[in-house]
Amino acid sequence: MSVRLQQSKYPFSAQARQASQKLARDLGVLVDLLEEPDNYYIVEEAEKRVYAALTQTQIRYPTMENEKDVLIYPTARLIVEELGLPQLRALQAEAESKEANRQLGKEESALVVDLGESSFNWRIESMGDINERSKLPLMLRTFELKMRFENYLEVAPSFHSDEWNLINRYMDKGWIPIRRSELDRLISGKFKQLIMDGRFDIPKMSRRLIEAVQRIEDKTKGRIRKREPVKITETLTSAFPPCIQKMYDDSIRGDVNLSHDARFALAAFLLRIGMEKNEVQKVFSSSPDKNISLIEYQVRHIASKRSSGVDVEGYIPPGCKKLQVNNLCPVYLGAVFDPLCEYILNPLVFYQTRAWEISKDIQDHSWYERKRNKKQNF
Ligand code: SF4
Repeated sequence: MSVRLQQSKYPFSAQARQASQKLARDLGVLVDLLEEPDNYYIVEEAEKRVYAALTQTQIRYPTMENEKDVLIYPTARLIVEELGLPQLRALQAEAESKEANRQLGKEESALVVDLGESSFNWRIESMGDINERSKLPLMLRTFELKMRFENYLEVAPSFHSDEWNLINRYMDKGWIPIRRSELDRLISGKFKQLIMDGRFDIPKMSRRLIEAVQRIEDKTKGRIRKREPVKITETLTSAFPPCIQKMYDDSIRGDVNLSHDARFALAAFLLRIGMEKNEVQKVFSSSPDKNISLIEYQVRHIASKRSSGVDVEGYIPPGCKKLQVNNLCPVYLGAVFDPLCEYILNPLVFYQTRAWEISKDIQDHSWYERKRNKKQNF
């Protein structure tokens, strides 16, 4: 298999992107193309690829014997975006990234380095052959490659294990030594990010694609729960952490103007737990300085932040430490106390835990001490 063909099986590669653009310059053309009988197989293969992602079974890369095989991946992405289920997108990102990592593991280093450079503009260099590396300090001999730290930081912070943390890495003049297997992981991790952050305008779908989307939608039932918009109820507010409860009460009563930080924290929190934008706007509509269009703008902005030119799913509410620095944590200020606050670092985790307790009618909180580590002391 030629190097070009070998690289084009990776959907993030420059080769794959160029080849699919040559066949279908945009998604509208792709949709039309998929209605031609010769191309029915592309929809079938794309549907299988999405189903594998949904069930988290192995995605099968096409053989690339037919140049149109490069269209299978964009068609699979189209099906997922048309369904508009963030959980399905996350499953697709996970499965695609896993398979890319598996395939990369079978490639020659030269091809993988070239993929990283040509697909993401990364700078990657060899640390030398075995003889040259044997002259390096012992701790560096197992690293075959090195990459620029700014490229490393595009992906590594999203990995949980400590070994990826920059403070645990050796760095020389901005170059970080990496193992070949780590490069595979960084490339597949970048691919995952691209899927998670990618949004596009969906063209009018054709009959064949709509049928495929409907079949996948049927299969998602029981596997993916659609999030129903949350309405403010007494049960819901009783799961609020003290900080959010105070901001919420102040806002509803309308006797004080919330600070910018408080507004941001409250709006981001309510949106994250699934409340509709218009419901969140209502929460702020009693504030003394109310300016409806400004409130609408702020809530819209918090609900959908833009990153590298694409919409991503809203801001994450600030954690406890940030709220404490901004004098927005009533527990830290000594005004109230809730034992759960000692075991969490983010109001969202408080909310999830307390909502679960309420759903199970658990009133005895002594289990925190047995099951969880303390994270804060007041
Ligand atoms: S500890 Fe965290 S969750 Fe609890 S009130 Fe303070 S900021 Fe909110």
